[in-house]
Amino acid sequence: EKIPANTGCEDLQELDKRYLWHPFTQMREYCREDNLIIERGEGSYLFDTQGRKYLDGISSLWVTVHGHNRKEINEAIRSQAEQVSHSTLLGLSNVPATRLAKELVRITPEGLSRVFYSDSGATSVEIALKMAFQYWQQQPDTRKRGKQRFLTFSGAYHGDTIGSVSLGGMDLFHSLYRPLLFQSLKAPAPYCYRCPMGREAGECGFACLEEFDRLISAHKDELAAVVIEPLVQGAAGIITAPPGYLRAVRERCTECDVLLIADEVAVGFGRTGSLFACEQEGVSPDLMCLAKGITGGYLPLAATLATEKIYEAFLGEYSEYKTFFHGHSYTGNPLACAAALANLEIFERDCVIEGLQGKIERLRQGLEHFHALPHVGDVRQRGFMIGIELVKDKATKEPFAPALRMGHRVILEARRRGVILRPLGDVLVLMPILGMSDSELDQLLQVTYESIGAVM
Ligand code: PLP
Repeated sequence: EKIPANTGCEDLQELDKRYLWHPFTQMREYCREDNLIIERGEGSYLFDTQGRKYLDGISSLWVTVHGHNRKEINEAIRSQAEQVSHSTLLGLSNVPATRLAKELVRITPEGLSRVFYSDSGATSVEIALKMAFQYWQQQPDTRKRGKQRFLTFSGAYHGDTIGSVSLGGMDLFHSLYRPLLFQSLKAPAPYCYRCPMGREAGECGFACLEEFDRLISAHKDELAAVVIEPLVQGAAGIITAPPGYLRAVRERCTECDVLLIADEVAVGFGRTGSLFACEQEGVSPDLMCLAKGITGGYLPLAATLATEKIYEAFLGEYSEYKTFFHGHSYTGNPLACAAALANLEIFERDCVIEGLQGKIERLRQGLEHFHALPHVGDVRQRGFMIGIELVKDKATKEPFAPALRMGHRVILEARRRGVILRPLGDVLVLMPILGMSDSELDQLLQVTYESIGAVM
């Protein structure tokens, strides 16, 4: 059947259902429900094609930082487009990519000195994996070349490409692909509400860390790197690590001569209350992955930062073949880098991080009364990252049957009330835009509270 050309007056909801295949979406179900097509955004709000207004409670998949349609970022993209929209970094450089690299080195933890660009969180992780692997292969001490494996955590999520899925610990998303994946070692994540070591919170003696110690010590000669989501495991359900955990992991990596890869894709750019999560425990990783908030939610861009020590292991004559043979067509895209520079300028000019602390406390207080709801088992907050875990039985922590899709039901209810949320199973995720006002944060909590109450 010949498809007619767009005329501009088609029913967009029909076109969406007819032609698009949405990520992480059961399309049969999606096509049965009312689909919502976003047309524009302003500040903390999104507007659909019917003119309805929604508070964006998830920063449009954890990317929006200062708000939608910010003039400064729009203007930076526009004026860069009038210069050049793309120019490769393979053998050439461009102005915004160069300036941004300096800025990223300046603001990230001490010791990270080189920036390698890509275009999504997953690719920034792939690059870190390949860099760590190649780093050890290029060591003069040949005994180090056996360091080829990776240690990650239960529930880990680092993206959807094959390398990042190999690091993953979410069976629902990852187990099917096992025949395609390399095997990574898994340490138990500090999921205190459902302790993987079967201990009670506060009386555990950091048993999960002991297990991490055992694994890293036993396998140090074969381990290239530990890959961690610092402070918060995002997709696992906003699992917040207890204080000291990240620092201890850093120390063990150093002791065992294993690189530490900090995946700050979700937690970076203010989301946990500091510009980068690693700062809160004074940790400098060997490699750091950034994406999502890097452009404030305007254009796709990612970066993998490396220490000078790692960078130097790739230097030599061409004929030594130490080059990092990796790159993407859009690596270092000038429009995206210009957006990222404008995003960073707003952080500094408006003292955004300093301004967050009062709002984080406001959120904390606002979340207190959620505990009284009959099906709220746990409420986790780290800065602007919030997870509300719904359970069938609070006393036993028994979850709802997955087929009931309680999280999904709550977010549909919230949508009817003018707030966009997206759950992770039965964990409701609230990821407010850092630029939200006090009253918008209150609205977000209020609607979430009422929606839970309306559904269960
Ligand atoms: N790493 C972490 C910690 C993430 O949370 C995500 C996405 O949610 C990714 C990597 C993958 O990022 P992207 O979706 O941009 O590929």
